[in-house]
Amino acid sequence: MITKKLYEKDAYISKFNAAVLSCDKAENGYRIKLDKTAFFPEGGGQPADTGTISGVNVFDVQIENDEIFHYTEKPLETGVTASCNLDFDRRYSFMQNHTAEHIVSGLVFKEYGYNNIGFHLNESEVTFDFNGFFTEEQLKKLEYEANKRVWRNLSVTAFYPSSDESVTTSYRAKSGINGKIRLVKIEDTDICACCAPHVNSTGEIGIIKFLNTEKQHGGTRIFMKCGTFALDDYRRKNSDIKAICGMLSAKTENLKDAVVAQSKRLESEKAAAKALRSELINYKIKLFDKTKHAIYLNGADIKQLQMAADGLHKAYGGVKTALCENENGCAFVMCGDTGELETEFKKLKDAFAVRGGGRDKIRQGSIIAEVEEIKQYFEV
Ligand SMILES: [Zn+2]
Repeated sequence: MITKKLYEKDAYISKFNAAVLSCDKAENGYRIKLDKTAFFPEGGGQPADTGTISGVNVFDVQIENDEIFHYTEKPLETGVTASCNLDFDRRYSFMQNHTAEHIVSGLVFKEYGYNNIGFHLNESEVTFDFNGFFTEEQLKKLEYEANKRVWRNLSVTAFYPSSDESVTTSYRAKSGINGKIRLVKIEDTDICACCAPHVNSTGEIGIIKFLNTEKQHGGTRIFMKCGTFALDDYRRKNSDIKAICGMLSAKTENLKDAVVAQSKRLESEKAAAKALRSELINYKIKLFDKTKHAIYLNGADIKQLQMAADGLHKAYGGVKTALCENENGCAFVMCGDTGELETEFKKLKDAFAVRGGGRDKIRQGSIIAEVEEIKQYFEV
């Protein structure tokens, strides 16, 4: 017995009763067949519905050789009538986003002649691929035109055409559709072969928003959010923007300028700190304890370590090392005359794992060890 597809006639059924025809052990869980179902099986780029049958979780629905199987966590008694519930909020989001995909693909086909060659709908976003390229202006216009179809609240209908109608009706075909053709018609916009449930009128989509595009496989991938996905995204972004405005004491409309000003300030603060640190290094060289051979400089960069080691070597002779903490332990620069320097560098490599090297009067790199151990070694 073929399971009756309730979702094909009415996409809004969220609760129904059905007879359990079979229940088999599956790889993970159980495989249930019903006499009728409103659970949409994964297909056409849309995920399977979730929900419950007699209170047991349905985590997947698949169509296999024309038969629909509901995958559940627990077994169900066969022959009984089960009360079934769909996770309808989730399904409704899919319906909104899937219908929007038809609108956009229909407009693209009419305006540019590109085909939709890939469609994927997940729990928060739609991606679809076209075999052609768009300019920024074209994308803006396309998004606006698609939203106009939403505002016009056009009707969406699904039907199985008679064989005569199939021949005379022109429609967009998606790859991977087998068997009897079901057409989804959006008034004044598009006719497309599709097996999935859609909303009844385009106004239900709420909004169609493109988030991003990528060039790939000789065409364009569009990332889109519609309906509840778009609302969730707007809420999250609005809350992030409010938080950032609070941190910068800026108004939403001036946020970009405030961020630019902030990063300019940060750059000039960094430059000032660097200049001060260089000045500090010069003082430290002047005040250096001549009995020591190394200096530890908190937060210095490699140039400042070079400046310090070289400055100490020139001022006091011998091999001098400048150190500061890094992600491995310490960054170091060692300066000295060739023979002496080689001896000290070898001693260091015998004591620690050392990455790096150098030539002439300089050796530099990383010492991989606890900072305290390194400090003890150099007596700083
Ligand atoms: Zn579709």
